[in-house]
Amino acid sequence: METNSIPALFVKKQSSLVGPVILLGAPGAGKGTQAKRISEYFGIPQISTGDILRENIREGTELGKTAKLLMDRGELVPDELVCQMVASRLRLPDCANGFILDGFPRTVAQAEWLDGHLAGQHFFESTKGRLGAVVIQLVVEYNQLLQRLTGRRTCPTCGRIYNVYTTQRPKTEGVCDVDGSELVTRKDDREDVIAERLKNYEAQTLPLVTYYGGHKQLSDINGMDDLDSITAAVFKAIEDGNRM
Ligand SMILES: [Zn+2]
Repeated sequence: METNSIPALFVKKQSSLVGPVILLGAPGAGKGTQAKRISEYFGIPQISTGDILRENIREGTELGKTAKLLMDRGELVPDELVCQMVASRLRLPDCANGFILDGFPRTVAQAEWLDGHLAGQHFFESTKGRLGAVVIQLVVEYNQLLQRLTGRRTCPTCGRIYNVYTTQRPKTEGVCDVDGSELVTRKDDREDVIAERLKNYEAQTLPLVTYYGGHKQLSDINGMDDLDSITAAVFKAIEDGNRM
C-alpha cells in the first residue's frame, strides 16, 4: 500500500543502536503503518506476537505444538508460552540493534516479564549506557476509531480492503476498483463487534499505560494528525528516548 512506504522527507538511517520500541494503540490507531515505517527507517525488525505464533506452529517447534494443542481445544495461549516465544524470537541476530514490538506486551504481567528479560540482555549496552525500552502510545479518540473501523469494506473477490471514510475509498461507491465486485462489510467490521473490541482493548490496556507511565517511559503521540506528522513525532520519540 502506498501510504505504508516511507516518504522521501525522512532520510533513512544507517545501522544505529535503537533498542526496544514498544507500540501501544487501539485497533485502528495506525500502529501497523507506523511500525512498518520505523522498521524501514531504523532497520530493525517488527515483531508481532500473531506472526511469531503462526511461525512456531508452521515450523512445528515445541512451543508451537503446545500452542496449537491449546488453540485446537479453543483455549487461550497462556502468557508464559507467549513470553517464551517472544524470548526465542528476540534471540535472533536481527534484533541486535533493536526491535519493534507490536501487540506485545498486552498485560502488566507480560510487561513485567519483558522488563526482567531485557534487564538480563547485554546487547543494548552502548558507550552511553544501557538502552531502555521506548514506549509509544498512538492516541486516537474513541469516535474516530469507531469511524475508521466501521468504514472498512472488503472485496469478496480479490480481498482488497477499502475505507469509505479515508483516502482508501473506492473510486465508485460500493464497488471494487480492481474487479468491479460489490464490496461487503465483514462481520468483524460491524459497529457492535467493533465497540466490544474497543471496550476490551481499553480495559486491558489501561493498566499497561499506567505501568509504563509510572516508569516515565511512555510517549503519547496524537494519532489523529496527518500520517507524516505522526511518523515525525514517532521518530523523534525514539531518538529522544535513546539520548542519554
Ligand atoms: Zn476486488
